[in-house]
Amino acid sequence: MIPFNKPFIIGKELKYIEEAVKSGKISGDGIFTKKCQDFFQDRYRFPKVLLTTSCTDALEMAAILCDVKAGDEVIVPSYTFVSSANAFALRGAMLVFADSCSDNPNIDPKEIERLITDRTKVIVPVHYAGVACDMEAIMKLADKYNLFVVEDAAQAIDSYYTFSDGTKKALGAIGHFAAFSFHETKNIIAGEGGMLVVNDAKYFERAEIIREKGTNRSAFFRGEVNKYGWVDIGSSFLPSEIISAFLYGQLEHMDEIQSKRITIWNRYYEELQILTEKGYVDLPVIPDYATNNAHMFYLICRSCEERTKLIEFMKEQDIHPVFHYLSLNKSEYFLKDNAKIDILNSDHFTDRLLRLPFYYELAYDDQEKIIEMVKKFYSVF
Ligand SMILES: *Cc1c(COP(=O)(O)O)cnc(C)c1O
Repeated sequence: MIPFNKPFIIGKELKYIEEAVKSGKISGDGIFTKKCQDFFQDRYRFPKVLLTTSCTDALEMAAILCDVKAGDEVIVPSYTFVSSANAFALRGAMLVFADSCSDNPNIDPKEIERLITDRTKVIVPVHYAGVACDMEAIMKLADKYNLFVVEDAAQAIDSYYTFSDGTKKALGAIGHFAAFSFHETKNIIAGEGGMLVVNDAKYFERAEIIREKGTNRSAFFRGEVNKYGWVDIGSSFLPSEIISAFLYGQLEHMDEIQSKRITIWNRYYEELQILTEKGYVDLPVIPDYATNNAHMFYLICRSCEERTKLIEFMKEQDIHPVFHYLSLNKSEYFLKDNAKIDILNSDHFTDRLLRLPFYYELAYDDQEKIIEMVKKFYSVF
């Protein structure tokens, strides 16, 4: 069987878990959490990183930090994972769904501007497949209308955006806040896990408090206050050292993981190019301002029916591709209070996008089989 995803161990993950236990501390914010946070701060020049138990949690923290309240509007792409929107729904925000670009699933900045009102408070660009949204255009809109930008960078570790003046920044370092995921389906994994990036020093202290159940316990442990107590709203957003230890074991091999993934991605892209030339499928488009972190490889089929047939065909060969994201504006939850509308590009990706198996340990021969079978389906040899 060739699964869609497969978790992997690459280095000292298990040894570090054992070390954490033996050190006598496996609750949060121990040595390994600090090592991971320092790693990200150094490598990507993030001003402040806080590990969390998931990207979903990091998004929820960002929603609290933006002070989102009932009546505020938040602009989110409709083609995304539920957490990008749910984090703001939890604060009572009204969700305003924006369409994707026509040639890739990222939010279209022209759509954002059309949707901005007096009540808009936050824009949530989601870097789909780790490919940057047009951040220069989005940050200009945020400046012009005085809005927060929360990057959903769940898929975007080790990916960059280049501004028109040539400045290159890591995704996650551009908006006010950014949320990353270390879920087992992402490039770097910890089972469940995530991090919040805080780019404006004004929010460092409050971010720590929200993450520690609304207490100033972090400042207390640093000796900055002599007792700690309940000072704000918050929740338990910090991961245990067991998670951080596993994650740190992966981080030590970041370059190896990334270079292997890029090799896999490039092979899919080169081998399946012929299907684009023949007009059977579209392949991912990487704009000039973006890099490719090889988070996923997808095809855009000509129709939903054709995609269903392709999936069936692949499953007969024991290969398991998947599709995802029903446009969120058509979700059961959203339709309870809202009329059904079509958001065209988003619907297009909902119906036609297909993700091929993609994981660090994908064997050369297995990838060959996947490529052969896709070509066979289209009778291209
Ligand atoms: C995976 C993912 C999330 C959620 O990440 P978790 O760590 O599982 O909470 C959110 N947004 C996007 C775009 C994702 O791909």
